[in-house]
Amino acid sequence: MHRYRIQGIPESIATAARATMRSPQYGHPAYVEVATGYGPCRLCLQTFAVGADQRLLFTYQPFSDSEALPAPGPVFIHREPCGRYDAAVLPETLRPLPLVIEGYGAAGALLVQRRVGTASFEPVLNEVLSRPGTQYAHLRNAEAGCFIARIDRDFPPD
Ligand SMILES: [Zn+2]
Repeated sequence: MHRYRIQGIPESIATAARATMRSPQYGHPAYVEVATGYGPCRLCLQTFAVGADQRLLFTYQPFSDSEALPAPGPVFIHREPCGRYDAAVLPETLRPLPLVIEGYGAAGALLVQRRVGTASFEPVLNEVLSRPGTQYAHLRNAEAGCFIARIDRDFPPD
């Protein structure tokens, strides 16, 4: 099995969105509302308490590769500061969600897309990361289509 690392969006993006109330990458106004859905928050990767948590909606572009075709879309984060997720396991709160794992190669080329469905997450991710040429993966919601998190291979130190 591949070792991997799942991370929330960059802390700098979340901080700027909260401070300016705009999309840091696009300048479009951000929007605050009480959570009407589970999310999750793209920074801490925890699901929202529907009807209780304040969340911030803004436009986010998840590809850091400058050659990749940009894919801006709406994301939610907690309105108040929260801790960025960065760990070698899938957050348990995401496990029940409808998930798709996409493997990307050079220049942001989509190489493989797998729905997790009723399977368990780890073997599906392993299959995606095992595909020749896959450099990283995106986790997306299989129903809404939106970006949830980036997954990188994590190589043990030599
Ligand atoms: Zn959060």
